Amino acid sequence: MDANQPPLLAGIEAGGTKYVCAVGHQPDELLRETRFPTTSPEETIDQAVGFFRQAAAEFGPLRAMGVGTFGPADINPRSPGYGGILNTPKEAWAGFNVVNALRDGLGEPVPIAIDTDVNAAAIGEAEFGAGRNERNVAYVTVGTGIGGGILIDGQPLHGRLHTEIGHLLVPDFDQPGKATGVCPFHDRCLEGRASGPAIEKRWGKPATELPPDHPAWQLEARYLAAAAIDLTAAWSPDIIILGGGVMQQEHLIDLVRGEFHALAGDYWTLPPLDTYLVTPWLGQNAGIVGALAMARRLL
Ligand SMILES: [Zn+2]
Repeated sequence: MDANQPPLLAGIEAGGTKYVCAVGHQPDELLRETRFPTTSPEETIDQAVGFFRQAAAEFGPLRAMGVGTFGPADINPRSPGYGGILNTPKEAWAGFNVVNALRDGLGEPVPIAIDTDVNAAAIGEAEFGAGRNERNVAYVTVGTGIGGGILIDGQPLHGRLHTEIGHLLVPDFDQPGKATGVCPFHDRCLEGRASGPAIEKRWGKPATELPPDHPAWQLEARYLAAAAIDLTAAWSPDIIILGGGVMQQEHLIDLVRGEFHALAGDYWTLPPLDTYLVTPWLGQNAGIVGALAMARRLL
């Protein structure tokens, strides 16, 4: 080991379908990375611990770990249940404490920070991506679900729990009688109307099969613009980053800017919309880079 080497950081992007684990001396320079399906809590944490033990044998001791997890999760460091997964449809995980299990598995006193996967991605983009130089960053992921993280003055916004941007209520922009929703709890929430499964249910085929001139995209853009307006009104971010699988449709971000302008008018004095409403720079890596950046913040 080089004595001048920065400390070894560990990160986990703990998704509901897959776990990504990585180590690096710099958050944006991954030395080693692995990904595997999220199965039972015990099996999944065992696999993560195995990876980190091997990485530590190779690169030296882990100095800190950041975890960006699927939720809902207890991310309040003052709570006795800190690090625990709360009531989730993934029943085996409900009540499981990720931080304690990692700590027990590693068998070493490595400081561990946990936050939501979307706050981790927001931190990744804020430190290394599209939000560089910005203090107030909103990151929204639009995919199988919709979630978002908000950084105020660089720090993730934590309320009583955490934000649930996917369940912002949105106006019914669809043609009368055409609307469908996929959220079991709300008729008109963002995730219910604008997530990947919502697009598929509304139009009868997956978003990836809809051509750029399909009316689905204008409707999608309008829902996302409504959410961006609500974020602007409530938190006044410097930048709103829209990522996730659905945003990989490259034409979509311009439609969102157009709808934002159409719905919001000129009320706010904002940067040009092509610098205010943007896609991520780190792509699918925002979460894992953010998890390592969370680890570095502990040192
Ligand atoms: Zn909902």
